Amino acid sequence: MSNRRTFAIISHPDAGKTTLTEKLLLQGGAIHLAGEVKARGQARRARSDWMKIEQQRGISVTSSVMTFQKDGTVFNLLDTPGHEDFSEDTYRTLTAVDSAIMVIDAAKGIEPQTRKLFEVCRMRSVPIITFVNKVDREGRPVFETLDEVADALALDVAPMSWPVGMGGIFEGVYDFASETIARPEGDSREFLGKRDPAAGAIPDEFAEEIELGREGYPQFDLAAYRHGDLTPVYFGSALKNFGVAELIAAIDRFAPPPRPQASDQGTIDPTREDVTGFIFKVQANMDPQHRDRIAFMRMVSGTFKRGMKLTPSGLGKPIAVHSPILFFAQDREIADSAEAGDIIGIPNHGTLRVGDTLSEKNDVRFTGLPNFAPEILRRVVLKDPTKTKQLRKALDDLSEEGVIQVFYPEIGSQWIVGVVGQLQLDVLISRLEAEYKVEAVLEPSPFDTARWLKGTPEALRVFADFNLSNLAKDRDGDPVFMARSAWDVSYQQERNPDLAFSATKER
Ligand code: GDP
Repeated sequence: MSNRRTFAIISHPDAGKTTLTEKLLLQGGAIHLAGEVKARGQARRARSDWMKIEQQRGISVTSSVMTFQKDGTVFNLLDTPGHEDFSEDTYRTLTAVDSAIMVIDAAKGIEPQTRKLFEVCRMRSVPIITFVNKVDREGRPVFETLDEVADALALDVAPMSWPVGMGGIFEGVYDFASETIARPEGDSREFLGKRDPAAGAIPDEFAEEIELGREGYPQFDLAAYRHGDLTPVYFGSALKNFGVAELIAAIDRFAPPPRPQASDQGTIDPTREDVTGFIFKVQANMDPQHRDRIAFMRMVSGTFKRGMKLTPSGLGKPIAVHSPILFFAQDREIADSAEAGDIIGIPNHGTLRVGDTLSEKNDVRFTGLPNFAPEILRRVVLKDPTKTKQLRKALDDLSEEGVIQVFYPEIGSQWIVGVVGQLQLDVLISRLEAEYKVEAVLEPSPFDTARWLKGTPEALRVFADFNLSNLAKDRDGDPVFMARSAWDVSYQQERNPDLAFSATKER
């Protein structure tokens, strides 16, 4: 069976995702100094102009991939942007993982962003391990937290450990399986590895609670977890390094290996011999010194070797992948080989696009990587009208990356951008200035939403005759109906039964 575990951490800002990531990488030996993830992150941000927006808001707009190894298992951790505004980037990253860790703050429970990300996971039946963080501080009663997860997310919860007291009276974390308690030690009260056998080690007032907890919830069930019906719950402190080793062990033991992926040829199994994969993210200018772009490919099957020729579905002819990249804790290292479940970065100059399938034999197309209908549409107005060409290039590039969607109306020259979250608009303006030296403002657009049109050429032609002023092309040249309201959409749907009006576009 595959030794790959490809997962993401979902959480609300401040729950402790960064701290936990750092501890996971530390235990996996990927980095050596605590604080390095943040420190490196900041250094990288400081170097990079277009990430100004991240600094201003103190958030991470971009995702990255971190790989670490422990006891023969390779863990691929895909970072999801944790800010309030939702972008397609977040959705797409979750299309590339096999499981997720949900981090919640012991004092705050389920927060809005946790819930949204959870819903995306549920949509795709991504199994979830829960980590209740910050038990070294005063938190809510454990029962309350467990019941909230169960009720709010309609999931069975199976506690795998239990905090012995919290905050000032925190004594450690009791592990149900090994029946040991990990205790804080030393000045910083970090976990240093010593474990008490539990018998007699737990004060009476907690022993009873723990027994109740153990009896009162469902037992862990692997099939139910893998199916997305049950979440095992671990308690710990990312900051003090409690419960992190147990979490890694849980991913190793329980989290699913690479899953089969849906395609136009049926599901493609990870054991298939030849290489297939799909692009779930494209990021430009990761290194400001090189104006490159990196396409992130999730390997679905086969063993990739450096220099291999793969055919991107969008291009139709093979490209040789000479300098693929693996991401070890944000350092770029050249990958020599990669297998199902791994992520490789492929440098390119715009040939690879989000949603593309790459394959050795060019005989398969992965499905289910959607574009989402934008919820916010804006007209882009140039401050300097002579920069039209630069603007077009920038909009094409950024839509290819998935930062925005762009629509070119059939009539007139007012280009329209669409996003699913407000933040993407700020990123757009900031990157236009920093990378393309284009100053632009965004103005309200007459349109409220967009629908991709599908139908026979004849049906499309008839529709165009009557609705040319509401027609646009997306970056691929596909026809899009620009609607003034939701009512407009249903009205046109009724009048044009031969056309499909789609809120997503599968690529
Ligand atoms: P993120 O926004 O989810 O990435 O959260 P961070 O990892 O940046 O953590 C947010 C804050 O919570 C920081 O001040 C951390 O030091 C703190 N924090 C994270 N984990 C713990 C923990 O286990 N215990 C305590 N007391 N604080 C924590």
